[in-house]
Amino acid sequence: MTRSDMDKAETDAKHILNQLGSLSSFLTGMDPGTEGDACFTMPLTIMKKAMSFDVSVLYEVCNVVDNWLILEVARVFDPQGYREDLKEGKKLILDLTRTDGIYINEIKAFSSRKVSCINVPNEGCDMMGFVYLPESLGGGYLFGGDYCGQESRVRDYEASVCEIMCNFLSTILIKAQLEKLAVYDSLTGLCNSRRIKEEATRIRNRFARKPKAIASVALCDIDHFKAVNDTHGHIQGDMVIKEVGELLSTSMRKHFDVAGRYGGEEFLLVLDETTGPEALSMIERIRKKIETHAFPKVDQAGKPIPGDSLHITLSFGVAENRADDSPCDALEWISRADRALYRSKHDGRNRATLWSHALDEACVETA
Ligand code: GH3
Ligand code: MG
Ligand code: MG
Repeated sequence: MTRSDMDKAETDAKHILNQLGSLSSFLTGMDPGTEGDACFTMPLTIMKKAMSFDVSVLYEVCNVVDNWLILEVARVFDPQGYREDLKEGKKLILDLTRTDGIYINEIKAFSSRKVSCINVPNEGCDMMGFVYLPESLGGGYLFGGDYCGQESRVRDYEASVCEIMCNFLSTILIKAQLEKLAVYDSLTGLCNSRRIKEEATRIRNRFARKPKAIASVALCDIDHFKAVNDTHGHIQGDMVIKEVGELLSTSMRKHFDVAGRYGGEEFLLVLDETTGPEALSMIERIRKKIETHAFPKVDQAGKPIPGDSLHITLSFGVAENRADDSPCDALEWISRADRALYRSKHDGRNRATLWSHALDEACVETA
């Protein structure tokens, strides 16, 4: 091997590592450089030694209708700009009965659930592999690597490596999807109840290291939600819960605040570096926004009925927790917000209450 061959091999290796690293990180939301993450490091090392694509593409299999296969470009790595036509979000409709078109490798890989590649002298070669994902987790993907404009150069072992790569991608995709299901609520896309409680606990545990830390939680509950279900049906109810989730998350500060679905029509917001009064004024803004928001009415199929809407309100309970003023544990913190929420309901709903010791005493008196 000459010096320049070695330089090229090294550049190629870096190139493929970057491509696969970014792809893995896209799929899993994890940093490919994460130390000790053998599930990334090992297959990447294999690929690094074996191949260097000019363009890498990940297609999502959106649908199969009769003989038509509908793919959507989920991710493209094309540093040289060889395939300007393949933009993320682009849909391809392929005829599965045509095996002579330009997407022949895609069709073959999808039909055989294997790797497919064709060498075209002077035009290069592209390789496509099926990435398996169970239907319940979103269906299949196709991973493609393209050598643009180079002499045909794919050898059998390279196709085998691509197959290993596709199996590897299948595994990390399934893992990523399962992790997502374990952490996110499927209706709203917000953190689920377990995850949001963990977030409150995480913020609370940081008090030990940050003696000046302050944070607040807000528990939010849709008023008279049972009536929404009873009057308009469960599908409408689901749609309202989903839209409340969106309104809450878009009204919060990125990086500081986290929202979760705490229960059926209850949400928990964890507001870091926020005092009780600050949380209260933020919640007041959200409360007004929701009060005036027109929620589209939907039919039994969940489709919006043009021009028809309904209104709802939310009640809130807010509780502050300070590292320097007898902090309480996360369970008690959320429970205080719950007691404040109970007060908001009791006082007529569509309002927010900040927890205080006096509030607990008043509750004891009322009880
Ligand atoms: P309040 O103002 O006191 O909160 O009254 P409410 O009617 O909202 O309270 P209640 O707890 O009596 O009822 C909550 C309802 O939320 C009951 C339940 O059927 C409904 N619910 C819970 N989870 C879901 C869900 O995921 N989808 C739908 N559509 N409804 C749900
Ligand atoms: Mg409730
Ligand atoms: Mg309610």
